[in-house]
Amino acid sequence: MLLCWMIRAKMREHIQELEMELTDSLPAFSCVLCARCCRGKIVALYGRDLERLSGLGDCHVTTSPEERSLTGARRKMRMENGACVFLGEGRCLHYERRPDTCRRHPFLVSGRNKLVASTCPGVDWSNQGKEGNHHALSEGIAPGIDRYLANRKGRGSTKP
Ligand code: SF4
Ligand code: SF4
Repeated sequence: MLLCWMIRAKMREHIQELEMELTDSLPAFSCVLCARCCRGKIVALYGRDLERLSGLGDCHVTTSPEERSLTGARRKMRMENGACVFLGEGRCLHYERRPDTCRRHPFLVSGRNKLVASTCPGVDWSNQGKEGNHHALSEGIAPGIDRYLANRKGRGSTKP
């Protein structure tokens, strides 16, 4: 079993421009509450996110065409001074209503690919994790990410 995990762990590719590791098996994870994922990120919003955020004020903005092509999202969380507008004293002020993008972080699990944020200090590559409900939480972004990775592979490129 351990040997099996070590072999799988070698099958990792760093996708530099996405700051993510492409893997075939998810590592273990335990959040250390660093709030790094709340700063300088595109927090894409989908239908159920917008319903959850309803009534919470001017907290989201339009995505750029490039962001929309990758994420499939028309809206994203608004950032101020590089941080999400919901971030206060290192904590999410509306944690129960946070978007799916935040709920699944640091994982993005589509039908074809498994990605892990390379900047998250809570990831433990020495142990194996579970996929849980990451498929459901990633379903908004999955088509765009799968398309992007397929095109990237086709180009044989390490650049977007
Ligand atoms: S970057 Fe990772 S460890 Fe830090 S708050 Fe986000 S999920 Fe938790
Ligand atoms: S909504 Fe909350 S968890 Fe998500 S990026 Fe903003 S502050 Fe962080």
